[in-house]
Amino acid sequence: MTMKTVVALPGEGIGPEVVDATCELLMGTGLPLKILTPPQGSPLPAETKRAAREADGVLFGAAGPSTTMVVAWLRWEMSAWAGVRPIRFYSGMRSPLADPEGIDYVLLRENSEGIYPGREGDLADLVKVMPDLAEKTGRKVKDFGNEGRFAVKVVTPRGAERIARFACDLARKRRARGKPGKVTCVTKSNVLPRTDGLYHQTVERIVREAGLQFEHFHVDDAARRLVRFPTSMDVVLCMNLYGDILSDLGAETAGGLGLAPSANFGDGWAYFESVHGSAPDIAGKGISNPTATILSSALMLEHMGLGAEAQRLQDAVARVYRDGKVLTPDQGGTARTREMAQAVLAAYR
Ligand code: ATP
Repeated sequence: MTMKTVVALPGEGIGPEVVDATCELLMGTGLPLKILTPPQGSPLPAETKRAAREADGVLFGAAGPSTTMVVAWLRWEMSAWAGVRPIRFYSGMRSPLADPEGIDYVLLRENSEGIYPGREGDLADLVKVMPDLAEKTGRKVKDFGNEGRFAVKVVTPRGAERIARFACDLARKRRARGKPGKVTCVTKSNVLPRTDGLYHQTVERIVREAGLQFEHFHVDDAARRLVRFPTSMDVVLCMNLYGDILSDLGAETAGGLGLAPSANFGDGWAYFESVHGSAPDIAGKGISNPTATILSSALMLEHMGLGAEAQRLQDAVARVYRDGKVLTPDQGGTARTREMAQAVLAAYR
């Protein structure tokens, strides 16, 4: 096997502890990995950007107030437009649901359009250029007066098409492994027929052309269904903000925010990070759950062409939960972050 280079960017809060524990685990596997930890800083130093661009894999910890620039660079500037967030229950995880067995879907978040990253302004400026922009009821922008703010939501056919095609590829790959081959599209197209409606129609057309199953739910209904019928989901394709919210909800149904990994793909570029943030309430105590970052590193291994090793790492995580002996406090155990990662390493071996 040829040597692969990984750039680890810890972020802040619990980011450094989960990334350190994961990197120690990866080094312990004996895989031919060279892990670099270039400086973070704000703005992100040019040498770090270069290293991350050239690396085979980039593993990020968690963003907090002083590292938002890191994630802004990784996600927005590098245009990692497809956020792949597997939601999967492993026996032994502490799900709040009565029957979480079989939860295994991917929440796919469109990362580059919608209402993120924020484009906001003063209402007075909008009134100057579009005074007569009207809502369904006929009320116009100018009727609000000049005091206030606005935010812009952008949806383009190009953005909706490329994420829809990505969803189809994912659904096909999962179908080959025995999953239904279904894309569930999540919008609020009844209230926003032009923006969310464009996304909804574009996704529906592309999924149907691909010969895959298609369903659509408005985001409020989707939230309910992810709690009530999570095992009926396969690929859940969400607009940006809805995906942000529903992935925390989905993570919690499987057992907690400390468990959900993600992979973020752009054009010829990808980075990997947990779904959770910096969790300031538990940062520095050494009790954060490393699972989300370990599973993110498994997605990274798969991306680097180490599919069998990625599967072996996921199986090792599954075994640690099944055994239930070395779990962090959020999962009802007493283990520390590093101990749990080392238990995964022992299971891997
Ligand atoms: P952000 O808005 O930055 O994305 P978030 O909504 O993902 O943040 P976090 O701060 O990451 O929220 O997490 C919310 C809470 O979940 C934390 O305060 C913490 O109690 C718990 N939590 C998150 N990650 C972990 C973890 N790895 N291990 C244990 N508990 C966690």
